Amino acid sequence: MKKIASLFLVVLTVFFSFGFYGCGEKDTATLYDISIKLSDKRIEGVMTIDFYNDTDNALGELKFNLHANAFRNGAKYSPISSQYLSKAYPNGINYGEMLINSVTSNGENLEYSVCGVDENILSVALANEVFPEERVSVTVCYTITLANVVARTGINEHTINLANFYPILCAIDENGFYECVYYSSGDPYYSECADYNVSITLDKDYTVASSGKFIKRENQGTLAKITYELKNARSFAFVVSDKFESITDNSTGIEIIYYFYEDENPLLAMQAAVKSIKLFEEKFGEYPYPTYSVVQTEFVQGGMEFPALVMISDSLEKEAYAEVVVHETAHQWWQTAVGNNEIESGFLDEGLAEYSVITFYEYYPEYNLTREQIIESSEKTYKTFCSVYDKLFGEVDTSMTRGLYEFKGEYEYVNIAYIKPCIMFDNLRKTIGDESFFKGLKKYYEEYKFKNAKPDDLVGIFEKMGKDTNGFFNSFFEGKDII
Ligand SMILES: [Zn+2]
Repeated sequence: MKKIASLFLVVLTVFFSFGFYGCGEKDTATLYDISIKLSDKRIEGVMTIDFYNDTDNALGELKFNLHANAFRNGAKYSPISSQYLSKAYPNGINYGEMLINSVTSNGENLEYSVCGVDENILSVALANEVFPEERVSVTVCYTITLANVVARTGINEHTINLANFYPILCAIDENGFYECVYYSSGDPYYSECADYNVSITLDKDYTVASSGKFIKRENQGTLAKITYELKNARSFAFVVSDKFESITDNSTGIEIIYYFYEDENPLLAMQAAVKSIKLFEEKFGEYPYPTYSVVQTEFVQGGMEFPALVMISDSLEKEAYAEVVVHETAHQWWQTAVGNNEIESGFLDEGLAEYSVITFYEYYPEYNLTREQIIESSEKTYKTFCSVYDKLFGEVDTSMTRGLYEFKGEYEYVNIAYIKPCIMFDNLRKTIGDESFFKGLKKYYEEYKFKNAKPDDLVGIFEKMGKDTNGFFNSFFEGKDII
């Protein structure tokens, strides 16, 4: 019955959208319009989402991930792995939270609840079902308190990391809205691409590093309101600081800005970013955004990717710094452009980002690392992991297609989602040859850019090229390979 009703509405919507967007132009993007005000450790936010229903079903509710609520007192899932607790909370464990103040649609209050397995979801009941190809606008007013935590969202001595500063629509797949739990290992994200218009109001002495393209700055006494936009992004992030210096490079046609506060030779990080973008554009396809911010910040792991912005940890050893820049830059192709459910199949983007690093070293001999050396040491590391796990647990699960919640910890996750895929991709490359291998990755990028891919989609690309790789991939995915 819903199908029939929706078919009828499709005709109406197409008719009206032609009138609205101009002949032949049908805008199917979901739009986020977000304004936040940052003062001290509080964020007051207003987010309006103009949701476009590109599913085949009528929807009576919308669900949003409240990632920032993972830092609250009493959370069931710690957002920080036990091994990083003391590093992440240098001043002792403390908490933040995300509170929803109101949810409205065109001025009318909507019913909502904060739910999910760990108060991680905002569920909003729509006044009327939104049919396929129809739009609905929902406004959420909210408050975030930032914890003093060295994480993706947190306030620290030098910087304020502002990822996940708004409710983000859950990705919708064949099972409906996918609710992300903020697991401490891996990146617990899964979202669809949308267009963003975001403004941040804060003390005018702060410098803002942003996912978006700068649009305007309005000074308001001691405050500044800065507006950005970004299209085709699966999230949006800021890092702000009153200590940032910056350098800019436009040689690739993309405005690359490196923000830092403690770097004796900032050109090294910039060169790594510029060289990565040049090589990955040649090997995989065009960089997806007009700008790119590489941001030094307080961060427990090496780095973290967001659309057009990456966080690079200030506590990295000098030798590892450029490599992390390369890895996070590769994520602009593998995760931000070609997305995937990072909770269920994190190896897809992590494996490709890490193999892109190997490709980087292969093409830039000045870094003195060869592909053969890295693969050899990856195999050694992986074999050690297998024997350690075998001794500890009597067996070792080497399957790659499993969720974050099925890993025992970071050591296992790194070996299965980063190192093993590198061995897999290098084996594939040796089997089908360099030309087919990179042609396949280019096709994968072209076909799934701004969409979400599954492991079988990657396999399908090589199969469509006439390469009999199904058995090869599946033996690795299922842990039946012999390395
Ligand atoms: Zn990564």
